[in-house]
Amino acid sequence: MRKKIVAGNWKMNKTGEEAIALAEGIKLDLADCVDMEVVVCPPFTAIKPVSDVLAETQVKVGSQNMSSDDDGAYTGEISHTMLKELFVTYVILGHSERREYHKETDCLVNKKVKKALEKNLRPIVCVGEKLEDRESGNTEKVVEEQVRGSLAGITADQFEDVVIAYEPVWAIGTGKTATTEQAQDVHAFIRGIVADMVGQEAADGVRIQYGGSMKPENAAELLSQPDIDGGLIGGAALEALSFVEIVKAGL
Ligand code: PEP
Repeated sequence: MRKKIVAGNWKMNKTGEEAIALAEGIKLDLADCVDMEVVVCPPFTAIKPVSDVLAETQVKVGSQNMSSDDDGAYTGEISHTMLKELFVTYVILGHSERREYHKETDCLVNKKVKKALEKNLRPIVCVGEKLEDRESGNTEKVVEEQVRGSLAGITADQFEDVVIAYEPVWAIGTGKTATTEQAQDVHAFIRGIVADMVGQEAADGVRIQYGGSMKPENAAELLSQPDIDGGLIGGAALEALSFVEIVKAGL
């Protein structure tokens, strides 16, 4: 049985004080949540205060990116050591906004995934097609390329610590959600690719989140699909109430 995982990606939102207030709100309802994994990913500047608020709770803290290097002259980057010092356990890698605005390639994402696993951080690896890919019938081709490229060389054992987030780019922040059927189809397809890469057992164990305008109103249906093991939530994670409702919809 795969344990569901819901993660909130706060992106470039929330000052330290605002982040503390949001974390306090989430803590009120989810401090003892053990039936699902709950993760929040604040901006770097708010990780420390949020980790402090959520210490001693079941809610985990993640980051939105991580360098593929250990340390050194990499202006603006953040390392695994720095993140672990702040009690980060998950790292979002290859988000479509990193791919689009910062030109991250599958090759770079793959380096980061390997680094994260080597350092005992759990990567949430994002993949997903753009609108033009879907409209031209290339969804599977694009998603397969990203999955194989971003996860190349990862062993069956390592896959236990990997979460894949399927996020159709056209559904992110647009209010357009993939239909339940569209999402389930791609999730099953991704699981099939993982089976081909490292075997059926690892594929059956890997958790695949859906991301793209997930909200309290559509979460229950999406999260009830056989291959949808959680959600990566952007906009609806910025308020405790809607984030908590999404988590509860999947319990
Ligand atoms: C995201 O950016 O990962 C995301 C899913 O955003 P939203 O929920 O706002 O579509």
